[in-house]
Amino acid sequence: MKTVIAIDGPAASGKSSVARELSVRLDIAYVNSGTFYRALTWWVLHEGADPNSVKEVSDVIAATELRSGFNGPIAFLLLNGTEATPHLRDNEVNRNVSAVSRVSLVREHLMTHLHRLASEKNVVMEGRDIGSVVFPDTPYKFYIDASPEVRVQRRQAQGQHDEIATRDRIDSSRPNAPLIIAEDALVIDSTHLTIDGVVGEVIGRLKLRGLSLPLQ
Ligand code: C5P
Repeated sequence: MKTVIAIDGPAASGKSSVARELSVRLDIAYVNSGTFYRALTWWVLHEGADPNSVKEVSDVIAATELRSGFNGPIAFLLLNGTEATPHLRDNEVNRNVSAVSRVSLVREHLMTHLHRLASEKNVVMEGRDIGSVVFPDTPYKFYIDASPEVRVQRRQAQGQHDEIATRDRIDSSRPNAPLIIAEDALVIDSTHLTIDGVVGEVIGRLKLRGLSLPLQ
């Protein structure tokens, strides 16, 4: 049995920095599921489909070969052999990713890939529904939050135009796999904490929950 450490939370809550650092400190693989949803969104736009049309998005996904794997410790997703990495933070992707992520076929396909990746390696996996839906049985669940003001500032500091309040609203209200706090998740508010502070708290909690480190 491989170990899954699930890190969920709203946009710009600091979960990516925490998850990445955790994967380095624990020497395990890192899966940023948000980049997979972003890659598919870029692909849908690239193929000229309407991101708000469930049918058009589903048709594009059904006609695309998705391939996932690990490049060293980092998970990747290819779309018909194409790498989407340079486009993941495009404004158009920021604007449309929550619409594409509502489509059931998108979630079903990505769920299969996320499960397979976690069957290959111990992983830190971040997203919106990792602890609640993708790996509900993992005992290692965290929900990283921060105040809306700090989250907006973080995105601005990254030079990105990102309507995070809109994304959060759509992500939290969709019927399938909405952003929620899993019942057994530990909530950490990162508003006044450094990345190191949050990572330290996560590692402390992992040990309390009986995870024996280093992982084999
Ligand atoms: O994590 P990030 O902000 O890059 O995620 C981009 C978008 O991907 C989210 O706003 C959400 O719509 C979608 N997403 C999701 N489920 C996940 C991860 C991301 O629906 N597990």
